[in-house]
Amino acid sequence: MKYTVLTLFPEITDAFFANSIMAKAVDKGIITYQVINIRDYAQDKHHTCDDAPYGGGPGMLMLSEPLGRALEAAGAKKGVSHPFKPRVIYLTPSGRPFNQALAKELAGEDELILLCGRYEGIDQRIIDRYVDDEISIGDYVLSSGEAAALVIIDATYRLVDQVITSESLDEESFSGGLLEYPQFTRPEVYDTMRVPEVLLSGHHANIRRWRLEKRVEKTLALRPDLIRRGEEAGLFDEETVSIIEELRKNERNKGD
Ligand code: SAM
Repeated sequence: MKYTVLTLFPEITDAFFANSIMAKAVDKGIITYQVINIRDYAQDKHHTCDDAPYGGGPGMLMLSEPLGRALEAAGAKKGVSHPFKPRVIYLTPSGRPFNQALAKELAGEDELILLCGRYEGIDQRIIDRYVDDEISIGDYVLSSGEAAALVIIDATYRLVDQVITSESLDEESFSGGLLEYPQFTRPEVYDTMRVPEVLLSGHHANIRRWRLEKRVEKTLALRPDLIRRGEEAGLFDEETVSIIEELRKNERNKGD
């Protein structure tokens, strides 16, 4: 997978590629990346990249010309859409909400071009000409797109084949429509709080069952919307469905 980030602040994203699991994936050649400074594509002597919006209004907008040149340099061809060129993503609060399902979809691409906005955003004509997906990382407004681009890179690269073991991904939050089970490490007793006995038992079947029950219990309590969506999509197996029903029955009995 190749990530190309277009930004006015390359130092923010550069650091991410040099650390931890990402650095290992880059060393092994599983991940490649390029950080393009949009300012390098401004042609006036001040390297201007922003100007006031037509029609008035507060703030500045990123100019289309440096952005267009930077995008062409990254391999985004005008008039050609994905899949005939790398998928171009503009990070914006107006975009489609980012989630684990979209992370999985993007992790399957060979290359992503991530365009980070600043100021009040970018000229609409750049979106119309070059952008395949507008993506938001949540219903709030950040001052720029770099943090959002890093969220997308971080959530996707770890799903790329061989970056981490698939076993670690299987029972993570959101896999199979459930949150992750609670986890414990040493010591067995922390300030009078004991690790659940079943986890010390070495009984694999009981541990598996306990973890599944905890995943369902936690998801019902914290994210009932995920359970509802999983049910609608027919995502849960028979065992999970019976645990959901049991927990709902207990809840109803408590209320009686
Ligand atoms: N005027 C824009 C609006 O009201 O939608 C907000 C611009 S924001 C201050 C500057 C840049 O931050 C945006 O162009 C975008 O790239 C990025 N950004 C801000 N919030 C974001 C979010 N929730 N998700 C993704 N990118 C975001």
